[in-house]
Amino acid sequence: MSVTAVVGAQWGDEGKGRTVDYLAQGADLVIRFQGGDNAGHTIVNDYGVFALHLVPGGIFNPQATCLIGAGTVVNFDVLLEEVAELEAAGVDTGRLVVDQRAHLILPFHRWLDAAQESSRREGWVVGTTHRGIGPAYADKAARYGIRAGDILDPDRLRPRMEMLVPRKNRELAFHGLPQTSVDELMDLCAGWRGRIAHRIVDAVPLVRGAVRGGRDVLLEGQLGVMRDLDWGIYPYSTSSSPTAGGACAGAGIPPRAIDRVLGVVKAFSTSVGGGPFPTEVHGALCERFRTAGPEVGHEYGARTGRPRRCGWFDGVVVGYASWLNGFTGISVTKLDVLDAFETLQICVAYRRGDRVLDYVPDTAAQELVTPVYESFPGWMSDTSGARTWDALPSNAQRYLRRVEELAGVPIRYVSVGPRREQIIVVEG
Ligand code: GDP
Repeated sequence: MSVTAVVGAQWGDEGKGRTVDYLAQGADLVIRFQGGDNAGHTIVNDYGVFALHLVPGGIFNPQATCLIGAGTVVNFDVLLEEVAELEAAGVDTGRLVVDQRAHLILPFHRWLDAAQESSRREGWVVGTTHRGIGPAYADKAARYGIRAGDILDPDRLRPRMEMLVPRKNRELAFHGLPQTSVDELMDLCAGWRGRIAHRIVDAVPLVRGAVRGGRDVLLEGQLGVMRDLDWGIYPYSTSSSPTAGGACAGAGIPPRAIDRVLGVVKAFSTSVGGGPFPTEVHGALCERFRTAGPEVGHEYGARTGRPRRCGWFDGVVVGYASWLNGFTGISVTKLDVLDAFETLQICVAYRRGDRVLDYVPDTAAQELVTPVYESFPGWMSDTSGARTWDALPSNAQRYLRRVEELAGVPIRYVSVGPRREQIIVVEG
């Protein structure tokens, strides 16, 4: 019985969804602790193929309670759609709840997100998914945000809306967008109240009871450390903290209660959106990373369909992620995608002028570094059927051991395909 945080070690899209789906088979409580419906956690199991945007990956375990935590921002329209899709596929969503403290994404947040992105100068575009995440977190930090629990009490909600709407209308006018109104937003919230009120809870007793009761709790992060608001490639970052520290804050769990921090590490690198990406490759090589392996794992954003930027494995980034999160182990995903590469590169340090760096510098400096690579022979054979470490080709084992060294913690899982059973549990 333990509390495990599952967090992304790179730029996001590492395969956290499938890792959580696998681990959640034995979990009692699964908590999404930050972010919003910009997530696209792809899960392939007996129910089908799903890109979960808000619902925690534990939803496929009928015993697990799934909590959308206080640190998230929630668009209830998207949540209702996602619940309907899951129910249509035969998944019971009766144990899905939302913390009353989670902030709401309202329609104008989405409009402002798109307008703010298009008003940025060339080269400074963040690459958001236009889902309103950043503007909703901005209102949260400014103490004007509307929280899930607020919709339960219209008398308390209306004055909050009356304070918020004039501010937002000034912003909307600045961007040449149509105005919003208090009545329109009150109607929207009334509609949500009718459909979602039964899922809005105070998560404190639920989470505290699970942790004190020694239950298995999973904390599910979205994106990865390189998109962290403080430690990522600001301003090409998300608006929250996808780290283990963020998990404590967003789920309402004390740091000492976390027993394991599992870093999810893709066997190479991908990034969606702007910002530095030292090991990026282009052209035909990038296309090889994008399209190798089964179609379901192709490197196109689960949320936007945008092609992901691809590159060699960056051990500096993963070492940095390991330090910041306090990884106790890693789960390496998508090894099978490398099956047909004759030679592989691993970045083990950065060079900047005549200096060699073994950590990730801040954004401006990161734009100037060049990777120091070690070359590894590929294995040129199909790993997708491997279910044990020993079944992996020796060159794959060598590659993975170097990844492990750079992470500084043991590999616990290796995945070799998108399906739930395509995973190797590495005995410690
Ligand atoms: P997440 O946001 O971290 O959950 O990652 P995404 O779902 O955006 O991206 C991971 C993609 O890789 C999804 O399409 C998964 O189905 C797929 N995937 C996950 N693990 C593997 C794997 O081991 N091999 C292959 N080929 N695809 C995988």
